[in-house]
Amino acid sequence: MASIFTKIISGEIPSFKIYEDDKYLAFLDINPNAIGHTLCIPKTEVDEIFDLDDETLSGLIIFSKKVACAIKKAVVCKRVGVGVIGLEVPHVHVHLIPINKMDDMSFDSKVKLTENEFIEIMKKIKSFI
Ligand code: AMP
Repeated sequence: MASIFTKIISGEIPSFKIYEDDKYLAFLDINPNAIGHTLCIPKTEVDEIFDLDDETLSGLIIFSKKVACAIKKAVVCKRVGVGVIGLEVPHVHVHLIPINKMDDMSFDSKVKLTENEFIEIMKKIKSFI
């Protein structure tokens, strides 16, 4: 069965898309740690990041860099933290999270955003890509 992220790629499930090319997609995390929390995924459905072939893995990192640089410009933060967890969705994704302190990488504290707030930050990040 297709993963939820494959359904996002196909448009079957809606998402707040930031940027995509033929191999990768970036979209806002629906339950963000912080405003601007973004996921970068390969369009090929693979569960674990180190099962990706080298070319797809390195391409994913370069794609994530482009998105992270735009997030850094769009959101006031010290760093854009990078994380790979994958316990919930078995489709490789890189978490890009605006952070000011170590705890901001914790997945225990979440921010609630309205649809308009998601749209606003999506547009702002997109404008810096
Ligand atoms: P994990 O697999 O543990 O790295 O976590 C999966 C992440 O995907 C979580 O941060 C979820 O909030 C996020 N997520 C799950 N479903 C969606 C969705 N439909 N749109 C955007 N983000 C999602």
